[in-house]
Amino acid sequence: MDKQQDFVLRQIEERGIKFIRLWFTDVLGTLKSVAIAPAEVEGAFNEGIGLDGSAVEGFTRRSEADMLLHPDPSTFQMLPWRGDIDPTARMFCDISTPDGQPSVTDPRRVLRRALDVASAQGFTFYVHPEIEFYLLKSDEALNGEPVPADNAGYFDNVPGGTAHDFRRRAVRILEDLGISVEYSHHEAGPGQNEIDLRFSDALNTADNVMTFRTVVKEVAIEQGVYATFMPKPMWQHPGSGMHTHVSLFEGDTNVFHEPGAEYQLSKIGRHFVAGLLKHAPEITAVTNQFVNSYKRIWGGDEAPSYACWGHNNSSALVRIPTYKPNKGGSARVEYRGIDSAANPYLAYAVLLSAGLKGVSEEYELPAEIEGDIWEMSPRERSVLGFDPLPSSLNEAISIMENSELVAETLGEQVFAYFLANKRAEWKQYRAQVTPFELASNLHAL
Ligand code: GLN
Ligand code: MG
Ligand code: MG
Ligand code: MG
Repeated sequence: MDKQQDFVLRQIEERGIKFIRLWFTDVLGTLKSVAIAPAEVEGAFNEGIGLDGSAVEGFTRRSEADMLLHPDPSTFQMLPWRGDIDPTARMFCDISTPDGQPSVTDPRRVLRRALDVASAQGFTFYVHPEIEFYLLKSDEALNGEPVPADNAGYFDNVPGGTAHDFRRRAVRILEDLGISVEYSHHEAGPGQNEIDLRFSDALNTADNVMTFRTVVKEVAIEQGVYATFMPKPMWQHPGSGMHTHVSLFEGDTNVFHEPGAEYQLSKIGRHFVAGLLKHAPEITAVTNQFVNSYKRIWGGDEAPSYACWGHNNSSALVRIPTYKPNKGGSARVEYRGIDSAANPYLAYAVLLSAGLKGVSEEYELPAEIEGDIWEMSPRERSVLGFDPLPSSLNEAISIMENSELVAETLGEQVFAYFLANKRAEWKQYRAQVTPFELASNLHAL
């Protein structure tokens, strides 16, 4: 029993915790949970808790269904929204096969593997997400109709409004869970909100994103509204992105920072951005994994559609933010493609691999794009030399299929499962006859 495990067992006893939820994430990014009694925790640390992997999206083939959950004691937290009756805590788990091998299909494991590659080169990967989501009227949302909970817009202060109370309560709970929040505000769409988490190492942040989604859903239920992370719930309003700021550290030093360089971005930083841009089309199926994701990144509303970078350009895929000269530690680049419905473990893994590839191969950073991309003709864009992002899930998976980088990062099994799942989604979507077609064709033809 190591020190952290000991600490957890003591906490459970001292705080009278009745239920311990073991959390893990399937390949598509859905949070899974099993509650165990306090008496089972020691056994869970020593031997793991069994689960039927074949019942979890992407985990196993039928013949190898048994898997074990191993709670990570460093993630132990009380769940504050459960209140004082039957106090409940949670731990995230790593997953193994019955013979003790780390499971190749555990998304946490996929990210750990990518982080190990970085660490072998001396780097730690830090990220912080800006998470956007919509608050909708509850009854309508449950009936499948998205109706915004308010009519406010970007940075609006709505005294006594739903969004205000909502954010205060959500931020409070996140802080109680040890997740620091930097900013929270109303976003541009009616009912749309954003909460930005403080930077942390990528594994911790991915865990925090999973926790965040649950907290937001719980607080919404508590306040009588419905929260959704769907990338584009309403065609006429902006989608919900999960812009993610990334940086590499060597020990305590941010290696993206170089005083005096353009935008104070170091050579490593420039190569990293070049890697993100070059591999963007092939990683997009992972960062934008649903049919609906592509309705967000089709053009405008501050969501990117082209693999280019800019300094102050809200249509660029990668933005290099300005920071105060004495704040070298906060040097970072912002990847704006990823949406709020991505599996954060897999998405951070492919972002890291793409960037690192740029560093190891010393990719050259293309020119900055400052003009309005939407105003340019396809010819102008091709002269400036940047690729469009895939325009549909179908296109994204065809590009991903040929990607060595993504295959290597996800591992063979996750790669194959992911592609099969997404092909099936596309096939189903393709079979739909949509309201658009009926409205334009039924009477006209
Ligand atoms: N909602 C926009 C997106 O989908 C981002 C808006 C912003 O934060 N500038 O990416
Ligand atoms: Mg923001
Ligand atoms: Mg935003
Ligand atoms: Mg942003």
